[in-house]
Amino acid sequence: MKHHLPQLDFASDALQPFLSSETLAFHHGKHHKAYVAKLNAAVEGKDLGQLSLTELVKKAQGGVFNNAAQHYNHSFYWRCIEPGGASSPEGALKAAIDKDFGSLEKLRESFSQAAATHFGSGWCWLVKNAKGRLEVVTHADAGCPVTEGATPLLTCDVWEHAYYIDYRNVRPDYIKAFWKGVNWDFVASCLAKPDGIEATILGTPTKD
Ligand code: MN
Repeated sequence: MKHHLPQLDFASDALQPFLSSETLAFHHGKHHKAYVAKLNAAVEGKDLGQLSLTELVKKAQGGVFNNAAQHYNHSFYWRCIEPGGASSPEGALKAAIDKDFGSLEKLRESFSQAAATHFGSGWCWLVKNAKGRLEVVTHADAGCPVTEGATPLLTCDVWEHAYYIDYRNVRPDYIKAFWKGVNWDFVASCLAKPDGIEATILGTPTKD
């Protein structure tokens, strides 16, 4: 199967001032696109080329893993943010956050601290871990929680390419702004229907 860069659900200037259209042009249009192209080049004509993206992330190693996981992680990240301000956790998601963190504010503190202090490139995640508890974890480079049997619920890309155009070296300001646009409805859908995550994040392919 050929892998495709997913379309964004919003216009390239719709996330301003959180993220500029220049950031999206580079981050989605160049960085993410390049991971997809390298993944296709690496798996074309091979057994790995038969696997779904999630299966590839779980089974591939080395360069194939890096490009597959970066395709997965970025596709996931684009669904985590939305223009027009954050929605609110409700229902089962709110109950799980309150149970495992005490409150949404405590989750935000824990997640922001982990994202700001993660050393070097990587990703900060809210996951439902293999024991069924919500947890904040970070992964270096292309790391992805599905390799640990966890269900990803929310992610923030903390590679410098995610924020350097808009925030330069001040990663904490980027993380602070991230909360203003979190799509909690997407987070809730991941918790409720983990089997539907891949189809949701891959959405509609770009015309390329
Ligand atoms: Mn990135």
